[in-house]
Amino acid sequence: MTETLPFINQATGEQFGQVTMATQDDVSRAHKEMRLNFEVWRRKPAAERVRILRLLQEAIIDATDEITAVINQDTGKSRQDALIEVFMVVDRLHQYYKNAERWLRRRRVPPGLYVFRRFYTEPHPHGVVAVIGPWNYPFDLCMSPVLSALLAGNTVILKPSEVTAATGALIEKLFKRIPELVPYVRILHGDGKVGAAVVESNPDLVFLTGSTATGKKIAAETAKTLTPFLSELGGKDPMLVLEHADVKAAAKWGVWGAFVNAGQTCMGLERVYAVEAVYDEFVAAVLEETKKLKMGYSTELNNQNHMGPLTFERQINIIRDHLGDAIAKGANVLLGGRIDGLFMEPTIVVDVDHSMKLMREETFGPILPIMKVRDETEAIWLANDSHYGLSACVWSNDMRQAKRAAHRLQVGSVNINDAISHYPVSLLPFGGVKQSGNARTHGKEEVLQFTHLRSYAVGRSPLPFDIATQMRYPGRYRLGTTILHFAFGATPRQRVQPVVEALDSLNAADVKPNLARVAAVLGGLMAVTAVLFGLLRLKTED
Ligand code: NAD
Repeated sequence: MTETLPFINQATGEQFGQVTMATQDDVSRAHKEMRLNFEVWRRKPAAERVRILRLLQEAIIDATDEITAVINQDTGKSRQDALIEVFMVVDRLHQYYKNAERWLRRRRVPPGLYVFRRFYTEPHPHGVVAVIGPWNYPFDLCMSPVLSALLAGNTVILKPSEVTAATGALIEKLFKRIPELVPYVRILHGDGKVGAAVVESNPDLVFLTGSTATGKKIAAETAKTLTPFLSELGGKDPMLVLEHADVKAAAKWGVWGAFVNAGQTCMGLERVYAVEAVYDEFVAAVLEETKKLKMGYSTELNNQNHMGPLTFERQINIIRDHLGDAIAKGANVLLGGRIDGLFMEPTIVVDVDHSMKLMREETFGPILPIMKVRDETEAIWLANDSHYGLSACVWSNDMRQAKRAAHRLQVGSVNINDAISHYPVSLLPFGGVKQSGNARTHGKEEVLQFTHLRSYAVGRSPLPFDIATQMRYPGRYRLGTTILHFAFGATPRQRVQPVVEALDSLNAADVKPNLARVAAVLGGLMAVTAVLFGLLRLKTED
């Protein structure tokens, strides 16, 4: 029996379509096709893959209004917020168009001792890559890893989130508009069970954007075959407001960073540490800014609401649980807190501490808890007291202080005097540490993680006069130590030590008449070797 996934408009509750869920047979068939077609796609030069992906870039830009309309219905976010997803995808494609050939080319490696051979590395695609996507930015976070994996020469199976199935279906439609891409991508719709089946179908690499809980399940599954697994997982991003902060700006953009996309952004602000010198002023400014926010759903292009509904019903339970736990432990709600259907008021909570789930677990909703701290050191300590490590932001107009604090934070990205704005920069690597995942998205780092480096050593059969060949024969110990000293000596004394030792031994044997000649020959030989090594060690095309 075929199962379907309904498309539900989260703001109105209306169903606006459906898509058929993939079966186990669909998963197996997709895998076989992608494995077969990988051999064709991988052979296309990078420039040709870029050309084909450029056709998709054109198709996406042509379909902008169609895409934002579907994302708007599927998630409840505004058309303008949906447009940001389109922006991020085409900006990245544009960067690939300009840089990918260079990122993916072969690189020479200095030969070390093997001076008569050539050495280079070449990035090779893994094969069939499985991409599993989330619902909070369903277009960008499915499209971007798929495009990077394709660009690197892999074929791809994409499993979009079941929560935003309409966007998954739209992505499938867009790929079908480019016949040259169709053989190399398969989109399988379905829930976590379908995701698990895709992971179990033995792809060559799995890329997940999702929760840390799902990341742990996939890590356990891929560990069975040691299949590479890249993950972009949850976060509990801290904001540090230090004594030299522009408090008004921190409040304005902190509120934006916490409530954009109704707080459902992986690097959205989830907790604030404000030093006592600015705490009162900051909280007052945050309340003022939050009161300006308008909530509502609109399909219009000129929507004036700041926040739409939550996209996923499951979130309501998590939010209620975290808020209830905090209140029970002494937190105070200064503003908001009401939930009506899937709409939740932007909520400001104070008197919080690290015994509360609200300060330690990912809430993923429109709540901003603010904690008063003594000073910078306490703020940093608390920011790092987390098993997450995605992003953070530091507010201070004393740049030395801001950079010092940024340097000590255990996260993948730090933003000084702004929030979230590091993410849309297409060439700035983004990703987490700790339980926020191990992948890096954006630019060269994103594309190259979909490859493995193959190393090549190239030349004719070993030459008899090659030092490296000579070193293979027994009785070359002295030759070895001489080269060791000359090539790698850390001081001038170490480099000339073999000459000194040779002269000493000649002295001991009382062969002084030959001393000058032998020393000259040895010295000359060593100097030539040293120059040769020096030149070759410096020579690199990187
Ligand atoms: P989720 O983990 O519930 O689901 C993500 C995807 O995994 C879905 O497609 C789901 O069907 C699939 N899935 C579920 N169980 C699976 C299994 N056992 N095997 C294979 N696939 C399975 O996450 P979500 O609720 O869709 O997304 C929100 C989460 O994603 C938040 O934690 C958020 O922080 C995180 N996120 C992280 C980033 C980042 O870049 N670090 C970006 C966006 C979202």
